[in-house]
Amino acid sequence: MTGPSWHLAFAGPSLLVVEDGGLLRVPNGEDLAVVLGTDVEGLVDAEVPLPPAEGRTCRAYDLPAGFEPPPGFALLGLRSLFERIPPDLFRVAGTALQKVEWLRSHGFCSRCGHATRRHLVHEAMECPACGHLHFPRLSPAVIVLVERGDTMLLARSPRFPEGMYSTLAGFVEPGESLEEAIQREIREEVGVEVTDLRYFGSQPWPFPHSLMIGFVARWAGGEIRVDGKEIVDAGWFTARRLPPLLPSGLSIARRLVDDFLRRHEGGAAHG
Ligand SMILES: [Zn+2]
Repeated sequence: MTGPSWHLAFAGPSLLVVEDGGLLRVPNGEDLAVVLGTDVEGLVDAEVPLPPAEGRTCRAYDLPAGFEPPPGFALLGLRSLFERIPPDLFRVAGTALQKVEWLRSHGFCSRCGHATRRHLVHEAMECPACGHLHFPRLSPAVIVLVERGDTMLLARSPRFPEGMYSTLAGFVEPGESLEEAIQREIREEVGVEVTDLRYFGSQPWPFPHSLMIGFVARWAGGEIRVDGKEIVDAGWFTARRLPPLLPSGLSIARRLVDDFLRRHEGGAAHG
């Protein structure tokens, strides 16, 4: 099975899309040549691997500084494209954005400052002066739904839209196991101890380069005491008493909440 090639071109975190009679699609090679003239060769680009069954070719591009989309094209933030483009394309676009971001931020060696170049074999930027290899950056983060009887712990970050509560999450620090990162994050942010950690699933999160690793945990002790910085409010919610706003279906946070609701009420949340 093959399909038309996907050309994923980014200006900052925004993807270039074609507005095709109310529908959105990504440019093909012809569209991109129209948009950029003949200058496609001059762009930073990277092969983006696709799931084997997909069979189509795909390339990622970093658009030149000051790029303005011509009529019929638009630059849209990747998050806003969730549910507006097919899930397989959304997934590939996330991969493409991570790789473009990697190329953008590794033009110079962080060890000696020399300009880097693409390595011929490895997916890495290579420093011709000191030989250091710069691989794409990936930051693992744990995300946890804590249960206590028929309630779940949801919390508010000051960055959230008003009324939104979500599961707790945090980056894994050097030297930590995933389990240790979970215990530390939850203790620091809400003062609660957890036990019985069960793996739930994972999700690449290209904003800009995280891998979210989801768990369900059981409350083991302590009452909620928010840190006031990363978390400004938290509470125990039931399937019948939910916060005004839950995280979007884009995130593993929502899948964790929906899983809890299925187990406690036999249905997922709406909205
Ligand atoms: Zn170097």
